[in-house]
Amino acid sequence: MEKLYGGKMILKYGKKIDFRKQGRDIRWIEVTALENTEISKKASKKASIHVNSCPICKSTNITPLKEINYFFWNRCENCGHFFVSNVPSEVSDIYEEGNQAQKTVYISEELFVKRKELISKPKAEFINSVIKQLNDRNNGLWVEIGCGVGELLSEVSLLGWETIGFEADPNEVEFARKHGINVVQIYVRDSFDKEVSDSLKKADVISIINVLEHIVDPLKWITNIISFMKKGSYLVIEVPRETSITAFCNLAGLPYKHLVTAGHYHIFSEKSMQIIQNHCKLENIAKWCFGNGFVDLLNTILWLSNAQVDAHLLDNILDKANDIQQKIDECGLSEAMLLVYRV
Ligand SMILES: [Zn+2]
Repeated sequence: MEKLYGGKMILKYGKKIDFRKQGRDIRWIEVTALENTEISKKASKKASIHVNSCPICKSTNITPLKEINYFFWNRCENCGHFFVSNVPSEVSDIYEEGNQAQKTVYISEELFVKRKELISKPKAEFINSVIKQLNDRNNGLWVEIGCGVGELLSEVSLLGWETIGFEADPNEVEFARKHGINVVQIYVRDSFDKEVSDSLKKADVISIINVLEHIVDPLKWITNIISFMKKGSYLVIEVPRETSITAFCNLAGLPYKHLVTAGHYHIFSEKSMQIIQNHCKLENIAKWCFGNGFVDLLNTILWLSNAQVDAHLLDNILDKANDIQQKIDECGLSEAMLLVYRV
């Protein structure tokens, strides 16, 4: 479902993917879960900041949800934002040291090619088409903050954009550079050097994909980034989203992604993103909600029961996963949202 822009927001639901091609079976979940626990354990030992009100709307009407890997998750009853209340005071070193879990997910030649095709190419094409509907200027500079191995930048450069990426993880930076992607190794904090601020000022598009959930104070951080951006430029944000089936699975015991991923301190609701949007005076021109909640449900059953199920039967069910997921996303239960804003 994709609506054309005419003063109205472009809405899209569902992202077709064959989950089996990602190689994320129960064995993979087990390995990733162990790595996440290790990283979280290390991070939890850093002197922590105690958060006793919603980091987005500041309400103190909060409900504790669950301790997961040493971190305490809460839900804001005013805006629906999920957040950790014992955030480490310094989070950048998790990335600057290089993250083993990231390595197994992202830093592999085979996965790079697959993820580019399955994940980054559809995103690049969607964002590019949204911007092109509003703007007939030539392509300009696309800056990505927290670009990882540069999959998205690689795809947008094929669409004619000039690109620069910032990434803290040295292993990911090295991998990106080997693939000819222009990436600077830096952790973009609340204050940053001239190289970063110059790029932000010049950018026609800034993408921040799956980064905001790792920031201690996302409202303060994103407000600062936007203060450097030029009027009429575009900001693309992807964040994990609530209410979702995935969080339900995490709370039931699925030990990976969303609430479990090491370094995640926030899961954003539509309302908490709306508060950020209003605070930063952004115009939301497109929203794309998607996820894998249905597959998460299946994985949760397999993980908790430890049962051997008939592979053929599971295969037949997975053949229908995209159609079922489409409905889940349309119902407002997707685990991720990608938002395109005009500054
Ligand atoms: Zn709130």
